[in-house]
Amino acid sequence: PDPSSRSQALHTRAKRSLPGGNTRTTVYLSPYPVYAAHGAGCRVHDVDGNVLIDCINNFTALIHGHAHPALASAAHRQIDLGTAFGMPTESEIALAELLAERVPGIEQIRFTNSGTEAVMMALKAARAYTGRPKIAKVEGAYHGSYDYAETSLDASPANWGEAAAPASVAHSLGTPQGVTADVVVLPFNDSKATEALLRANAASLAGVLIDLLPNRVGLIPASAEYLEMLRRVTTELGILLIVDEVITLRLASGGAQSRLGVTPDLTTVGKIMGGGFPVGGVAGRADVMAVFDPSAGRPAVPHGGTFSANPVSMVSGLAAMQLLDEAAYAQLDRHGDMLRQGLNQAFADTGIAGQATGLGSLIKLHLKADKLTSYRDAYPSPEQARAMARFNREMLNRGVLMASYGLIALSTPMQDQDIAQIIETAHEALNVLRREEVL
Ligand code: PMP
Repeated sequence: PDPSSRSQALHTRAKRSLPGGNTRTTVYLSPYPVYAAHGAGCRVHDVDGNVLIDCINNFTALIHGHAHPALASAAHRQIDLGTAFGMPTESEIALAELLAERVPGIEQIRFTNSGTEAVMMALKAARAYTGRPKIAKVEGAYHGSYDYAETSLDASPANWGEAAAPASVAHSLGTPQGVTADVVVLPFNDSKATEALLRANAASLAGVLIDLLPNRVGLIPASAEYLEMLRRVTTELGILLIVDEVITLRLASGGAQSRLGVTPDLTTVGKIMGGGFPVGGVAGRADVMAVFDPSAGRPAVPHGGTFSANPVSMVSGLAAMQLLDEAAYAQLDRHGDMLRQGLNQAFADTGIAGQATGLGSLIKLHLKADKLTSYRDAYPSPEQARAMARFNREMLNRGVLMASYGLIALSTPMQDQDIAQIIETAHEALNVLRREEVL
């Protein structure tokens, strides 16, 4: 703590009007967070004048970094024309067309304001389409804060239950038992156990919700075998396969589903496709999306949203997506590979047990060296979690911003020398961990 810090003074002030001084758990940092002032490209300036290379990009959403001129001018033009109407606008059609063109599982889409809402609407759509009540999701995977979708998220290991049939554990205190009773929790990448759970619950399962590269499960990809089984068994049992691409849309123009070769019935999207503004979308096959169609009277699933498809998000999102051509994805992939390799080398050079996982522009650090395939493998011990938080602080103090639990998301403005700077800084931070015997 530094008494002259403006961030610290802002946090002290915030504690009076925001619980814990915080309005977004993911950005909480003890003893106080660093407050942002402004950003440009891959750098963000904090209120104390420090310049940070931004490796979190608003939790993966800002694929073009900060204040990209094309996105800013699209937003400015729309702001001058009006920001939201009680009418549809042409901008929503253009973004829907682009996504349907690029993503294999998307024929039609409904826009929302967040990924949380997109997932909520996808689960409601699956229930309405199938007439069944239950949802299956992967143990530990994060899909936003709808009660059903957050089940089993970050449950303490004492509550995990059997590996082959993980317990359905509520995330928020006070969650009704009916919620956990209607969620089947699947062990990630365990095809045999997952297939058995799907078959045992077939008559009551509406959908399987899965992120193909789940961040909280260790940012390890779903195996080809697991995906083949999921697609085959859900089709056979009449269960909808829902792929959550809120984060992974940044992996390829067709999302992770095109990269890993699975076509879902429903897809949820968000983050990068808002061009820096709030956004989400529930999308999929036209016959499933018909549950939202109001043209023949009250739809099976009514869906509104005061700011859904607001034209500022739509035009900025369209500009962001149009900038993502094959060359942009190729550069993000190359930088991701460079960084993963450099970080793994930093672990080797400093003798700290650790590894970098992920795909393309998404990278996650782990303070464990064994090969990771499942949630339970990847879950950090309390010592490892503390050491990761310390590593994050050492990175931050040297000008690199990432998620406190080790997530990194790259952006298109980054150049080779920026990747080199991140690797160099990681070396220094890992050396501190080694010197101080943090692990
Ligand atoms: N799904 C996934 C996979 C996510 O990572 C997130 C947010 N990080 C969400 C859904 C929820 O999105 P939002 O924060 O926009 O509500």
